[in-house]
Amino acid sequence: MRQILTKSASVVRTKAREVENPHAPEIRELVFAMKDAMRKANGIGLAAPQIGEPLRIFVAEVNKKFYVAVNPNVTKVSEETEEMEEGCLSVPGLWGPVERAARVTLEAFDQNGKPYRLKAKGLLARVIQHEMDHLDGILFIDKAKALYEIRRQEKHGA
Ligand code: ZN
Repeated sequence: MRQILTKSASVVRTKAREVENPHAPEIRELVFAMKDAMRKANGIGLAAPQIGEPLRIFVAEVNKKFYVAVNPNVTKVSEETEEMEEGCLSVPGLWGPVERAARVTLEAFDQNGKPYRLKAKGLLARVIQHEMDHLDGILFIDKAKALYEIRRQEKHGA
């Protein structure tokens, strides 16, 4: 089983590279492994670098809907921002408020290599921005206005 890396792991701090062929079967396999790792960790999002794969892929599960984004790009962000508490599977036990765009437009490929465009707001918009940061080696602790140490089990981290 792939382990979720902690913040000390350098791959989490590396800019991930584009997937050359979003149709490749290995990509679908990696997506399934990521889904599995995210669910086992009780997370709502996971980027490939978090399990040691420096590729531009993330998965998310928000309001019982599962999302896959291969070679994602955020093509639009709202001027309006929102502040919300975040946690991260790669930084266990730490939480803190992060200000992000309230709405984003995402363009990506799904697990079958099919391109799509998605308009997101609320928690999904937040998870998308959190995961996009992961693909550039950025962690929420770099942006949080404050950090709190809290141990809890609820489904929250990404
Ligand atoms: Zn994270």
